[in-house]
Formats: sequence, structure tokens, C-alpha cells
Amino acid sequence: MGVADAVPLIDQHCHGVATADVDVREWLSEAKSARRHPFRSLLGVSLRRWCAPVLGMESHAPAEDYLWRRAELGWHEASRRLLAAAGVKHWFVDTGYAPGPVTTPGLLAELGGGTGHEVMRIESVAETLSLTAASPEALLNGILTQLHRAPVIAFKSVIGYRMGLRLPTVPPDRSAVVQAAGNWLRVKESRLTDPVLLTWLVHEAARAGYERGLPLQFHTGFGDSDLRLSEVDPVCLTDFIRAVPVPTVLLHCYPFHRNAAYLAHVFDHVYVDLGLTVPFVGPRAGAVLAEVLELAPFDSVLYSSDGNVLPELHFLGAALWRSYLGKLVDSWLADDVLTPADAERLVLGIGYANAARLHRL
Ligand SMILES: [Zn+2]
Repeated sequence: MGVADAVPLIDQHCHGVATADVDVREWLSEAKSARRHPFRSLLGVSLRRWCAPVLGMESHAPAEDYLWRRAELGWHEASRRLLAAAGVKHWFVDTGYAPGPVTTPGLLAELGGGTGHEVMRIESVAETLSLTAASPEALLNGILTQLHRAPVIAFKSVIGYRMGLRLPTVPPDRSAVVQAAGNWLRVKESRLTDPVLLTWLVHEAARAGYERGLPLQFHTGFGDSDLRLSEVDPVCLTDFIRAVPVPTVLLHCYPFHRNAAYLAHVFDHVYVDLGLTVPFVGPRAGAVLAEVLELAPFDSVLYSSDGNVLPELHFLGAALWRSYLGKLVDSWLADDVLTPADAERLVLGIGYANAARLHRL
């Protein structure tokens, strides 16, 4: 039994799973395209290796058999098995992205065990309010009310997708914000892309987070083709991080996870989380975790799956993390790098205790 096998987890950033049968193949790549065989990747082979036994099949079952079995079980039973097998005690669910019908945090936790909590995606809240706001002032006040009152466990921003991460260190003037809000409401374009409004929103979320003791999560590093990778290196956030004291969680980070680890090294309020990197890189998860731990203080590293739509991703994140962090720590024990007590503390910290402390659970 590996040192990470039985650790309860806080999945501190994930999404709901589909409440309908979906085509698994479409969700196995950030390209969201079936032109390349989605199972011929480290994520694809890892899914066959790890998820097939949870659905009652041989490990490495052929992709076609896996898809057939999953359809036979149906989304509900497949989700129940895979989510429960992740061994998660708390699910922090970003509720602002739903490409179709997905579980609420409550239903996700009902299926997988444990407790569900909501992570507020701030851009989605602004976009929803913009549909009914009577005036720019009403829109801005509505957003502030949500930021200061909504019962959430953290804020999350996808500003990297919209304008990159080179954020101004101070918020824009109130008059510029009101004007930008007025323009946005006039054009009736629901997607928020205005840099003045986006910057204001992130600064207000940081202020609310600081006052309420809620961390601010940023998407950094790879994602779908909507983003420009050169603009989402977490080091682009350096000036913002230096100026704004809110606890800041860098999500995903790959391939800039070493840069993220550096930021966590030099700034006490910065945390690193590999998120969807782990399921995507599969058996390379140990190498990536080792690179993060080169510089990141052990207490600054968090676990999440970033599972989205497919419960396979929630499970794989946990299973691969347990297996490959376990192997990494075992190699350090064999080399006399640390003691068994140090190893246990490191693994429990990343899997649970660091997030529990940060979110006062
Ligand atoms: Zn996410």
C-alpha cells in the first residue's frame, strides 16, 4: 500500500459531471474534436488502465468495450462508481461552466460521497447579471452584492482566457468602469471581454476575498484553443500578486508549473495546484509533481482534479495523484531524503490539510 493510497482528499477545483449520457471521446482532449483518436494519448491509455476496473472490466479493456460498458451502466451508475472511487471528502465545484446539463455541488457529493461546496466563477456571475441589469450602476452593485454575500468557498477567474494575466496592479477609475459597463449592456454581447470591466471584477473579487477570507483561483497554463498560452504563464501575474494580498491559487499551471512553484516560494499567499495536468500527463504525473516540489513549500501545494463533465476525470485525477505521488515519495524514502513521518505529512498536506487550513474547514 502506497503512502498516498488512503489519504482523504479535498478536490479543491472541479466541475459537475454530465447528468446525461455523453460521448466520452469528445471530452478526452482540450481540442474537443474527434479528428485524432482520443484514446491514443496518455490520458486515453490511463483511462483504460484505471477506470475500466471501476466499471467492472479488465484493466486496459479496449476503448470500444469501455464505451459499450459505460453506456450499459448509464451516466448515473458510472458516475456513482467513479466518483466514489476517488476517495474525496470535499468537492469544491466551479458552477460557472456548464456545456450541458451537469450536477450541482450537492448532487456531485451525493454521488461521490462527502460534501459539495460552490466555487464562484466571477466572470459567469457578471455575465448572468448583465442579462437583466437595468443600468450600469445596477449591474456593478449586483456584482458587488454577490461577491460579498454569496455562500461560496472560493472565487475563480478565467481572466487569462479573456485578456491574459498581465493584470494592472490597481483597479480602474469608477467612471471608466461605469462607462465600460454601459457599453457592454448596450451591445448585448453576453461574453465579458472588456479589459476595464474584467480588471475591476478581479480587483473587487480580491478585495471581497481578502475581507471574507476566501481565496481567489486563477486559470493559468494550458486549456482549450480559446487561450493564448504565452499570456497565461502564471509569472504574468507577478505584479498583481505583489500588490494584492488575497490568498491566490494558481490552477493547472502546465507547462509553467515550475514558474508557479517559484511564485509560491517567494510569496506567502500563493498556492499551486496542478489540476487537470495530472490526468492529462498520466504516468508523467510524478515528474511534474517533483518539479513543483523543487521550489514550492510543501504547505503551498494543493490537490484538485479539475474534473469536468466526465467522472472519469475526477477519478483519474485522484488515482494518478495517489499512485505517482506515492512512488515519488517512496523513492525519496529509499534515498533517505525524508522520514516516514515527513512523507506522511507531505502527502496529507497536499491532499487535504493545506486546503483545509486555507478554507478553514
Ligand atoms: Zn476548471
